[in-house]
Amino acid sequence: MGEMQADEQPIPGPGSGIRRVIAVGNQKGGVGKTTTTVNVSAAIAEMGYRVLVIDLDPQGNATTGLGVNARSLEHTAYDVLMDKVPLDDAVAATSVRNLFVLPATIDLAGAEIELVPAIARESKLRNAIDKSEGWDYIFIDCPPSLGLLNINALCAATEILVPIQCEYYALEGVGQLLRNVQLIQQSLNADLVVSLVVMTMYDARTKLSDQVVAEVREHFGDKVCKTVVPRNVRLSESPSYGQPIITFDPIGRGAVAYREVAKEVVQHAPNRLG
Ligand code: ADP
Ligand code: MG
Repeated sequence: MGEMQADEQPIPGPGSGIRRVIAVGNQKGGVGKTTTTVNVSAAIAEMGYRVLVIDLDPQGNATTGLGVNARSLEHTAYDVLMDKVPLDDAVAATSVRNLFVLPATIDLAGAEIELVPAIARESKLRNAIDKSEGWDYIFIDCPPSLGLLNINALCAATEILVPIQCEYYALEGVGQLLRNVQLIQQSLNADLVVSLVVMTMYDARTKLSDQVVAEVREHFGDKVCKTVVPRNVRLSESPSYGQPIITFDPIGRGAVAYREVAKEVVQHAPNRLG
């Protein structure tokens, strides 16, 4: 139903002022948030869109995965959240054209505590993004926690993309995630929607993967990307080379899958949402 309507709308192209802010979140660790953030962002940048990755995880995996050494930089996400510098002054280029990152280091863990007494502590990131210009897509790599960093991500975003790993108990914690989204909608960000679910680490050799995909589709319906990301060694190797999969292994299965997911994300632009 929604899809027929959606197809009548053109997809906003690069520089059309589309400006989507997408939080990649799931409070479970190790489900593929960072891998999805880095690789979907890179594939969308490859299409010609100007893309920013905001690394909001103190582990800094998106930062290093994009080949940026945050320690060599003057400013990071911490300084932006603490109102020390404007976002655009803390952004670093990556090896992929059109793809930039607001880097994180372990210092960011301090913000979780230091922000507690701050005024408008939940909207630090949103305010910083509001003053920033020139991005078609902003992806926020969320930490696997439910603290102030995550709340800042959900306040700044208009959409949340949820990676779910094809494993036992895949939906565990998803109920809690949806309740948190609801709380944020009611109190701080009425615009927030769960826009897409991406199934990750699919293993074609196991029945389990198919069962999990079926279960998640039952739960989320059309929101689940048609493309399922396979378990693929090259995807797990590429971060240590500081490269997204589209440059590390451009025609491998991981790159093919993430390019397809990226297309689905782009086709799911808000004016096309059913
Ligand atoms: P999160 O950010 O949710 O904690 P990650 O993206 O860091 O999850 O992924 C967790 C681990 O699984 C990482 O070591 C990553 O390289 C690996 N991984 C993620 N997706 C895949 C995949 N499709 N195939 C193989 N390994 C993957
Ligand atoms: Mg991560």
